[in-house]
Amino acid sequence: MELFKKILIANRGEIAVRVIRACRELGIRTVAIFSDIERESLHVKLADESICIGPAVPAQSYLNIPAILSAAELTDSEAIHPGYGFLSENPQLAEACTTSGIVFIGPSAETLRMGGDKAKARQIMKRRGIPVVPGSDGPVASEELVMKIAKKIGFPVIVKASAGGGGRGMRIVNEEEELSTSFHMAQRESLTAFGSSELYVEKYLSSIRHIEVQIIADGKGNVIHLGERDCSVQRRHQKLIEESPSPIATEKFRKKIGELAVRAAKAMKYRNVGTIEFIVDQDQNIYFMEINTRVQVEHPVTEELTGVDIVKEQIRIAAGFPLLYKQNQIRASGHVIECRINAEDPDKFIPCPGRLTQFMPPGGPGVRIDTAAYSGWVVPSQYDSMIAKLIVKGKNREEAIARMRRALDEFVVEGIKTTIPFHQRVFTHPDFIKGNFTTDFIERISRQPGNGAKPAEALG
Ligand code: ADP
Repeated sequence: MELFKKILIANRGEIAVRVIRACRELGIRTVAIFSDIERESLHVKLADESICIGPAVPAQSYLNIPAILSAAELTDSEAIHPGYGFLSENPQLAEACTTSGIVFIGPSAETLRMGGDKAKARQIMKRRGIPVVPGSDGPVASEELVMKIAKKIGFPVIVKASAGGGGRGMRIVNEEEELSTSFHMAQRESLTAFGSSELYVEKYLSSIRHIEVQIIADGKGNVIHLGERDCSVQRRHQKLIEESPSPIATEKFRKKIGELAVRAAKAMKYRNVGTIEFIVDQDQNIYFMEINTRVQVEHPVTEELTGVDIVKEQIRIAAGFPLLYKQNQIRASGHVIECRINAEDPDKFIPCPGRLTQFMPPGGPGVRIDTAAYSGWVVPSQYDSMIAKLIVKGKNREEAIARMRRALDEFVVEGIKTTIPFHQRVFTHPDFIKGNFTTDFIERISRQPGNGAKPAEALG
């Protein structure tokens, strides 16, 4: 068996750069694709070859399956790495690859379909005895049915898009009177964002943590987990900070959530890397939420904690190699935290694209930067606003926090606004330092000026 000679990366930004780096170390040649406004992007400069596949609008370039496949064929690429976002969870790309004799670096089209239908994934887990948040058994077609279920499980509930992602297409319903409006709003939002109006409903749990588990499966029966990541620091259901270990995890908890994740992966006949997302309530009850069938933004947290190169594993597994590790060979050490640095106004969280007149990331012991940004580069307005991930490792949480503060202070970005000042405030908040936070942390501290918190507008 051999690794690939050439891989096309169907993505842009920091994740394209991350994949190119893994390929370079594995001796694999790379092909970058780019839209016509991204000629000067770092992923284009770092790849061995590059090919323009269309205009800036994603539908005509980074989401354009025929253009991507033609680029792969033209360059004799043997495999396509989809990164995250864009087409990474799209079964049509996986199928089109198979038809063209190109390897899709990810799970099978069937698994992508199961994972992409969140109502269905819930059903599969429930049948396998994996706890899910109380709610509907599959999709709910009518407002009346949602009302019936909501009355049974009790308000508040959350209606969610079966095809949802990125925190979109979901609405919290606090009481009966709000249900009709919320149901129709969620339906409309989901139809616009995902092309499907199918919804399902769950009990809305308060004071919860979002804890997820990285899994790797080689499709030959070996499935292992690489521990948990706590992603509870969120704004509008979108992750801002991720860390591992979770401040609440005991050895017993880790074993339990890890085993659940492995069972969930097996239930989906999983192959390649993936993440099982759970909700954990105050009594440490664990509920399956969804499966992400791709590499996650926050994968470096686990890489730094365990020493496993998740992107190289993705490539090796897609090439047909068995897993390099057994569960008992996975060793976690220290504490790792990641901040997502976005090109956004740190007070209002609105995008702030433009030219980076200065970009000087921090360095020194225990600091990793994953970025495609450089001084002089223009952050485009057409794509995601995340421009860098700052990952730090310390021997314990205390050292990791001190290191993150030091690294954030060193980070110089000029020409645009970023969320660095927001992170600086979170890393001095007493509750964050104590590890005492749930998914409503940012909203909660924004409402409570004083008590150690910064003014409301300052925390968004
Ligand atoms: P997406 O795929 O859009 O990211 P998720 O289903 O992963 O959506 O949920 C995103 C976030 O929304 C979670 O991390 C959590 O903070 C919140 N959330 C989702 N479901 C519930 C629920 N039943 N109760 C409370 N919060 C929830």
